[in-house]
Amino acid sequence: MIVMKFGGTSIEDILSVERVIGIIDSRLEQHPVVVNSAMGKTTRKLLDIARLSADGMDKKALLRLDKIREYHFDMARGLIPDFEDSDARTTLEGYFEELKRLLGGLSILRELTPRSQDRFLSYGELVATTIIASTLQSRGINARWQDARDLIITDERFTRARPVDEITFRGIQKKVRPLVESGHVPVIQGFIGSTRGGATTTLGFEGSDFTAALAGAALDVSNIEIWKDVNGIMTADPRIFAGARTVKNISFEEASELTFCGAKVLHPGTIEPARRKNIPVNIYNSRQPDAEGTTITARAKRGTNIVKSIAYNVPVCIMNIVSDSHVDPAGFLRSVFDILDREGIVPRVATTAGAGIAMAVSTSEDMEHAIDELTRLGTVNIAREKATISLVGENIRTTRDFTPVVFQNLEDVNICMVAQGASPISLTFVVDESDVSSVIARLHEAFFSEPDPYV
Ligand code: ADP
Ligand code: ASP
Ligand code: MG
Repeated sequence: MIVMKFGGTSIEDILSVERVIGIIDSRLEQHPVVVNSAMGKTTRKLLDIARLSADGMDKKALLRLDKIREYHFDMARGLIPDFEDSDARTTLEGYFEELKRLLGGLSILRELTPRSQDRFLSYGELVATTIIASTLQSRGINARWQDARDLIITDERFTRARPVDEITFRGIQKKVRPLVESGHVPVIQGFIGSTRGGATTTLGFEGSDFTAALAGAALDVSNIEIWKDVNGIMTADPRIFAGARTVKNISFEEASELTFCGAKVLHPGTIEPARRKNIPVNIYNSRQPDAEGTTITARAKRGTNIVKSIAYNVPVCIMNIVSDSHVDPAGFLRSVFDILDREGIVPRVATTAGAGIAMAVSTSEDMEHAIDELTRLGTVNIAREKATISLVGENIRTTRDFTPVVFQNLEDVNICMVAQGASPISLTFVVDESDVSSVIARLHEAFFSEPDPYV
């Protein structure tokens, strides 16, 4: 058995869905379980219109919802024969009716709570899987749509819910395994789940990767395949550095570190379930199904390159807090971290000295409240438009003088903070946002000018 997950870019139009159907068809002998994201940029678009409605611009929101509806109906018409008379059409009509009613609710309440946001966004995946499952059926593949909200049971942290592993695993084993064993191809929504009480939750943006890993671990599959629009995990984000190369093999630890350092190629939760069950994760390109891609395994081949990949994270700001009271430094740090925890802020880099602490955190729209709270503890200074850059690789652990070599290459760059030693396999530092692409290009030149066979 295998899990195959297809992200938004892999199912953004009729041609790409056709490609995906072909890829699933080619792996039927391996008994696939299919996990899908929303199509194209639907999640972002749904979020935009939900916000418009909550801000009182409900006419504009309805017009945009119509566009999303048309996009999906056009796709369904192109993919499903006799779509007009099909069950899929009735289901889709129902979903878009519900979305319309929910928009009405948002505009009356003038508020978008995390709970209603999750409910609203879940339709992207519900609609996509309906279309994919029907398309597969119309091609003679025994697909069966399954509701992830009956499988992925989470806590109540709406917009960033965490699955309750035991119930989730048991549910998947009980409900998905028999389907596969009776010759079906289950089609499940990524990203969404439900609380024990039945409220819809989401696992955070890009959460479909995480769903795939959970399903794979629960079913003890032989491989978890994650299909994207890139040839695997690369030495850098190809969107920011065109010379990036595919990393053929990377360890769970390295991949996990990369995602925590901001590499947008995988959801940070993806690796843990796979690692626990020691299931290889393959990252493939749905546009080039025969390309080798990346395999993530417990132990990766140790090449000669010190670094496996360079990650970055923007926008970031540096928060500097100097305590008002010099008497209780431990109490001060505890209070700072209590506030961050309550506000859901995880520092990417933190250093503390004397009566102060400096932290690099991802800039977010709702951090003003956290700043107000921190101001109670001392003087707060914020430096914006920063970025973190991280170099990740197991060989960093055993390379002496790694840090000086990195900075020799960046002598004229304004390095604002450095985190060395917090993880033995990575080095993270903070630079000005405007320097990101040139710093990555220079580091790539320094560490990958002679790529080893595993890159
Ligand atoms: P999907 O939504 O289809 O699952 P994403 O678009 O979320 O896929 O993730 C793939 C994107 O991740 C790539 O297009 C690429 O720009 C970005 N990315 C960032 N870092 C890396 C990296 N190290 N290797 C490959 N892709 C990366
Ligand atoms: N559709 C969700 C998102 O855009 C989940 C995913 O694509 O993984 O974040
Ligand atoms: Mg995505």
